[in-house]
Amino acid sequence: MGGSLVLGEIRGIRIQVHYTWLIVFFLITWSLAAGVFPRLVPGLNTGAYLGLGAAGTVLLFGSVLLHELSHSLVAQRLGYRVRSITLFIFGGIAAMEAEVRRARDEVAVAAAGPVMSLGLAALFFVLGLAAPDPAAAALLGYSAYANLALAAFNLLPGFPLDGGRIFRGILWLAWHDFYRATDVASLVGQGIGWLLVAGGFFLALSGDILGGIWLAFIGWFLNNAAEAARTQANATRVFKGIRVRDVMDAYPRAVPPSMTVRQLVRDHILREGIRAFPVVEGDRLVGIVTVTDVRNLPEDEWEERAVGTVMTRMPLRTVGPEADLAAAVEVMAATGLNQLPVVADGRLVGVVSRASVFRLLQVRRELGAYRDEEADRG
Ligand SMILES: [Zn+2]
Repeated sequence: MGGSLVLGEIRGIRIQVHYTWLIVFFLITWSLAAGVFPRLVPGLNTGAYLGLGAAGTVLLFGSVLLHELSHSLVAQRLGYRVRSITLFIFGGIAAMEAEVRRARDEVAVAAAGPVMSLGLAALFFVLGLAAPDPAAAALLGYSAYANLALAAFNLLPGFPLDGGRIFRGILWLAWHDFYRATDVASLVGQGIGWLLVAGGFFLALSGDILGGIWLAFIGWFLNNAAEAARTQANATRVFKGIRVRDVMDAYPRAVPPSMTVRQLVRDHILREGIRAFPVVEGDRLVGIVTVTDVRNLPEDEWEERAVGTVMTRMPLRTVGPEADLAAAVEVMAATGLNQLPVVADGRLVGVVSRASVFRLLQVRRELGAYRDEEADRG
């Protein structure tokens, strides 16, 4: 996640805080200091409430971190690499290098977080009973409650929440079909997302405006994440077993860097209606030139300027011919590019475009071809 502050490293896992967490820090400190603690322990001064609010927020921060760390350490134990843990506005994310390979790994990794939160809730509860004064008891009691709420919320059965991951793992175990399990679990995730948005709306109407907006945003975020997971699982399923070389244009219209811009426009862009051309020297890819590059150049310079002076130079986003088509589609979706040069050992061997992927999808959909290929990923 961009805009993150690195706090340190635990067992090779980078621990970082996204700047949006600072907003949460102040909001929670303020709501604890102004609302929660004055109600729990009346009669203290403002400084004491602020101190309690900050302490409660730090304990919450530590609790979320331990929750994510618990997921991460179990994942590491099962042989997955975990790159980082990021705390951001809606909680924490542990970034694993790859998706889980087995259904029972999914269940174990997903359950580890809520188990940690439940354990922390019990610990804070017991410590609260033994607290020396009412302020400490309130702080520990609040932390117990916060961890309990964290576990309960995360156990909702909608993907990508922990409960939804456990749910997906169980469906995956039962059906031996990763994609169908993801489809169903993320649909439930979208449903829960919408319910939270509706709940937030009613909460706001009933007077708790900040809490309502907060809940609605969490619901919206969950709905988006679930939808993205479903789209990706479907794309992976549709493109399963298809390589970039199967769909690429193997004879792309490439141009040399020495060609003038006028010649490019007259003989290629206007004639062939193509918006982007790989630029090659011999058969080596050296850049890409697009309609936008040409438009940025005043027309009276088209005659004397060569393509090589206006193109976007290497390094470009490229794919290999043996790469999975799903990976190429992901890159195009993430970058907004309409085509990717296909390169093997620095040589241009083709171009894969959104148009060719779309054609493939259309034909396969018409034939209902991919339905027969649902497979067991476990
Ligand atoms: Zn979790």
